Amino acid sequence: MSAVVVLTGIAFLFGMILVLLDAYLKKEDPRVEEIKNHLPGYNCGSCGYGSCEGMAKAILENAYSFQKCKPMKEEAKIEMEQFLKEKEIIKKTNH
Ligand code: SF4
Repeated sequence: MSAVVVLTGIAFLFGMILVLLDAYLKKEDPRVEEIKNHLPGYNCGSCGYGSCEGMAKAILENAYSFQKCKPMKEEAKIEMEQFLKEKEIIKKTNH
């Protein structure tokens, strides 16, 4: 009987570890929200990333992806580039 209790406790403990690990790994990069704030926010999908959030995530992979945003005005693109440099998302080796 006590073996069943111990095994149940161990199973519960491993279950909790998996839940916490899953939540930790799914935690979104806070820079996605910051980058989104620099995008037009139309969610038009004309960039090919489906939404501004998709574009923000793409920028983290390839900083100059923002140039594919068609509604973004030139002035906003310059500001975006400065922001990405300040955040070191654009590094000297990019572009
Ligand atoms: S093209 Fe620009 S405004 Fe449209 S979804 Fe992409 S990032 Fe957002």
